[in-house]
Amino acid sequence: PDLIPQDINQAVLDTVRLVESDFSERGIECVLELSHDLPAVPFDKNQIQQVLLNLAKNAGEAMPSGGKIHFRSWHQGETVMVSVQDTGMGMPSEVLERIFSPFFTTKAKGTGLGLAVSFRIMEDHGGDIGATSTPGQGSTFVLTLPLAPSTI
Ligand code: ADP
Ligand code: MG
Repeated sequence: PDLIPQDINQAVLDTVRLVESDFSERGIECVLELSHDLPAVPFDKNQIQQVLLNLAKNAGEAMPSGGKIHFRSWHQGETVMVSVQDTGMGMPSEVLERIFSPFFTTKAKGTGLGLAVSFRIMEDHGGDIGATSTPGQGSTFVLTLPLAPSTI
């Protein structure tokens, strides 16, 4: 990745701008809760926007009759974190444990690649991606980016 120290909020805002009009037509509201006190963190903007877009698309697909997506950012220790939380259908644990596997999909026309690629991108940043979910209530994906990536 092309690691350039920059503002993660800008990547979130650019991604939301890409999906916003389509989402609002589908009854999906994007809510931003971004910390305005974040240090710059090294990341490849194209790659992290691809991760955020994958998460936003999945969140939208989990809410066929509309809902909300919260985008949050915060500074925690030696990392910057971003979460994407939806009010969609959620996942049972047997789905949750397989979502980062290549080609795993529960969708009729899914590729099962979005989260596998996202996992790889976060790994390439020395960061992490994790998910929690409650069936019938929604899912939360959390990205972790190290301020000083050491594993690369
Ligand atoms: P695809 O979207 O093509 O199915 P992904 O790798 O993006 O592939 O996601 C894999 C699977 O993880 C999805 O098929 C779905 O079962 C589950 N999933 C991912 N994000 C969510 C979400 N926000 N809510 C519910 N299920 C999700
Ligand atoms: Mg997907």
